[in-house]
Amino acid sequence: MNLFGMTLPQLQHLCTEEGLPRFAARQMCDWLYAKRVDNIDAMTNLSLKARSRLKEIAVIEKPAPVNCQVSKDGTKKYLFPAFPGSQENKEHYIEAVYIPDGERGTLCISCQVGCKMGCRFCVTGQQGFHGNLDSAAILNQIFSIPEFEQLTNIVYMGMGEPMDNLDNILASIDVLTSDWGLAWSPRRITVSSVGIIPGLKRFLEESQCHVAVSLHNAFAIEREAIMPAQRAYPIADVVALLRRYDWNGQRRISFEYTLFKGLNDDIRHATQLVSLLKGLRCRVNLIPFHPSPDTPFQTSSTIATNRFRDYINAHGITCTVRTSRGQDIMAACGLLAGQTQT
Ligand code: SF4
Repeated sequence: MNLFGMTLPQLQHLCTEEGLPRFAARQMCDWLYAKRVDNIDAMTNLSLKARSRLKEIAVIEKPAPVNCQVSKDGTKKYLFPAFPGSQENKEHYIEAVYIPDGERGTLCISCQVGCKMGCRFCVTGQQGFHGNLDSAAILNQIFSIPEFEQLTNIVYMGMGEPMDNLDNILASIDVLTSDWGLAWSPRRITVSSVGIIPGLKRFLEESQCHVAVSLHNAFAIEREAIMPAQRAYPIADVVALLRRYDWNGQRRISFEYTLFKGLNDDIRHATQLVSLLKGLRCRVNLIPFHPSPDTPFQTSSTIATNRFRDYINAHGITCTVRTSRGQDIMAACGLLAGQTQT
């Protein structure tokens, strides 16, 4: 059992089961998350008996990244073992991308090995699904990079669909935002989704983090052609769900829209997008497409990109074009493969 990644209630349950005092759970949280120790012996305010019992049944496992590639723009892509400690699935890796930007340090983390959603334009989606990351493996991407102290924002936008691994996502957010964890504001965290409606509904009710919906085409049939999830969870239903929540406070909803040349980047698409989102307080982030080897998709021109952006802005929805980062190390949106470098 890995103590790292466990929430306070989970540690309290463990203490009860093992006959340890309940307050030991809070002490463990302090050692694990505030002091970031990596062995049970370091938890010096736990009794010797408690430490000894814990060492019989548990470990603190936080594997260091096995590789780091650095982009010419300063972006860093870290590679981690997906299932540390497991005798099986040893060949699987996941990636986290650190993006420095002035005072901001954003980390894009993964939540699954591969992905079931199969978005046609995404390298991860073409790899199939190999398993969920537990909360320890999700949090380890944050705790085990040298830039931990510089992190200002976490985005769950790496490999995998967060709403398809929601228990572990919520547990990891609990560690990041609770007073017994890192006590971060949930406004420092954004979680993305293609719009898995049951998961999204639960997420909206159980968390205060920002939400980013992967939209990419506002026409149902065209969206389904590039995002199979549209069949089960139509984007119109996703937006209808989002309209039931209050977005006037500090919590933000954004829509991610990757522009593909000739597929979703003309004024007809912009008009449909405005019609879909009309009246919803939100923003649209346009993402230049980054071609991977063998992809049939192409990057939109700068003229088409700016025309699309200007149309959305002119119709009352804030729209910006995201700056590409880490393209030279395959760290940009949709390019994460979780492969070891040779
Ligand atoms: Fe999965 Fe996101 Fe890739 Fe779609 S874009 S296949 S949801 S990782």
